[in-house]
Formats: sequence, C-alpha cells, structure tokens
Amino acid sequence: MNWRESAGCRGTDPELFFPVGSSTSLPTRVQSDEAKAVCGRCPVARQCLDWALNAEPVEGVWGGTTETERRAMRRRRA
Ligand code: SF4
Repeated sequence: MNWRESAGCRGTDPELFFPVGSSTSLPTRVQSDEAKAVCGRCPVARQCLDWALNAEPVEGVWGGTTETERRAMRRRRA
C-alpha cells in the first residue's frame, strides 16, 4: 500500500501546507504550525518526511517540516 493512502492530510485543504510569503512572517509561521499540527497526528509522517528529504527540493510542509528545515537536515546528513 502506498503511504499516501494513509496520509493524515487527506481531506484537508492542500493550501494549508503551502504557506505563501516570507518564512519569518507571523502569518506564514502560524500557517506552517497549523500544517505541522496535522502532520503531528499523521500515521505516515516518517515516510512522508523521508520522501521529501530524498526528493528534489519541494516547497511546502511535508512530514512536519518546511523546505528550509529539510534543507538544514540534508546539510547535516551530508
Ligand atoms: S506528514 Fe503531513 S504532509 Fe505528510 S502525509 Fe502526513 S499530514 Fe500529509
């Protein structure tokens, strides 16, 4: 079974996971935190994060992380 079939965000407005604007602005951070809260209840968050870390850089919140956070994780892994 594909992990996406168990995604905790199914049925959630996808736009929640793609905050627009500077990552340091309050509205963007609030939106990211709301998306991360959904990820925090997701049964496949680990698989989702692994996918996002191994994909080409992808925007948005995946596996409870933003692309900025994943970039830092990739640097630490390298
Ligand atoms: S970790 Fe977040 S973005 Fe990934 S499938 Fe789960 S809810 Fe969706």
